[in-house]
Amino acid sequence: MSRKILIASLKHETNTFSKLPTDIAAYEARTLYRGQEVIDRHKGTRVEVAAFLDAAETYGWEIVTPISASATPSGRVTEEAFETFASEIMASLKDEGPFDAVLLALHGAMVTTHDEDGEGLLLERVRAYIGPDIPLGVSLDLHANFTDRMAANADVLVSFRTYPHIDGYETAEVVANLTHGMLERGLKPKTYVARGQMLDGVDHGRTTSPGPMLEVLALADAHTAREADIHTITVNAGFPWTDIHDVGPTVVVVGEGNNPRHQEIANELVGEIWTRRANITIDPMSTVDAIARAKVVPAGEGAVVLADFADNPGGGGYNDSTKLLAAMIEAGFENAAFSNIYDPAVTKQALTAGIGAEIDISLGGKTETDFAPPIVTKATVKATGDGKFHMEGPMAQGSYVDMWPCVLLDIGGIDVVVTQTRLQVLDRQYFRHLGINPEDKDFLGVKSAQHFRAAFAPIAREILVVDEGDGITSRNYPVLPYKNVRRPVWPLDLD
Ligand SMILES: [Zn+2]
Repeated sequence: MSRKILIASLKHETNTFSKLPTDIAAYEARTLYRGQEVIDRHKGTRVEVAAFLDAAETYGWEIVTPISASATPSGRVTEEAFETFASEIMASLKDEGPFDAVLLALHGAMVTTHDEDGEGLLLERVRAYIGPDIPLGVSLDLHANFTDRMAANADVLVSFRTYPHIDGYETAEVVANLTHGMLERGLKPKTYVARGQMLDGVDHGRTTSPGPMLEVLALADAHTAREADIHTITVNAGFPWTDIHDVGPTVVVVGEGNNPRHQEIANELVGEIWTRRANITIDPMSTVDAIARAKVVPAGEGAVVLADFADNPGGGGYNDSTKLLAAMIEAGFENAAFSNIYDPAVTKQALTAGIGAEIDISLGGKTETDFAPPIVTKATVKATGDGKFHMEGPMAQGSYVDMWPCVLLDIGGIDVVVTQTRLQVLDRQYFRHLGINPEDKDFLGVKSAQHFRAAFAPIAREILVVDEGDGITSRNYPVLPYKNVRRPVWPLDLD
């Protein structure tokens, strides 16, 4: 008997300190697919929906795919955007059902203007409609601020285990297989969640070096191996730049049936996160120190990669802070490239002027003028592009990106990608589509905190993480105006 499954994705990682609302246009600027396009754009890639689609083939499911929507991290999702997309999922449930199960690829750190737990709100509505007996499986980002409401309204909830996130496909595969188990083998999973008094933890989830995240995952795996009735254990680092009550790290145990032991295991693992709360595997430095270090890195293969942690658009940063770029220009780095500065006006100016033109620019520094002023100088338009490409991996490999028409400017000898959309540099294609081979550069500046490592660590001579403590994605939490987080919490109140 063929089963009918609804597959959808609605994602956002909300930085509540951003003054930029996340509206429908913000989704249109990143990912907004409906119906057949959800299948066409995701099939064959390494993202979560692709795994759901493959499971449908494997298990012979009939599928309905109303929507796949994602926006670059920024401020609260507007009520209009959330209600528009959520109502499309609900309409599909009502009009195209009945369904045997629902599979959703979510993020877990969405805050809307009318609810601080966007995923909890969506899952509550879906559950209210489908009732308690229809399986509801959910994949999440490990930066989910996981709530009890999410646990109460879904059967299977599993987050990524890697940061950079290179296991979207594998995560959703687990979700799909457990959901299949509910349909065909009568599994009845129950979710237990434990939360610590922490804003951040497990080194923000980094899995690129030995450290807290890998240690706690290993402890979790030991429990999973020992206890036959545990399906999965998720370790969420949480997303600290979200001022909500339940922000921060969690451990989520999905086991079979009611078992108080599973709650104990979740509690115990949160204790392990607490013990390691101050351990991090990165060494954030000031711009001055990073530039000084970059100048003396011994010559050799690959580039010195300077990562702008505090203005990471992947965490809600405005993507137009000029501090790091200005310092690279002033340092006179040769054979250097930078991606990217968000500046629609300069992009359009350069597109109009055309390749080879010299233009007077006032670049960046426009969204938050306190961090760094615009760079006012002359620039030469070296290349223009339509901004369309496919990620070459390993992160979200194969995914289609449309960053809109963009330009490559020569500013003081540095090749600078300037764009009309905010996007974290996740892939070498963010340079390559404008004719820059990052493999050939001696210095690379990237707007990214950690995800860049997936593509750039293999070609990096050295990686330098720059955090001046003044951006809205900085680790300098005490300067951010938290109001809603439960107190006391580390590191604001507790040592
Ligand atoms: Zn994440």
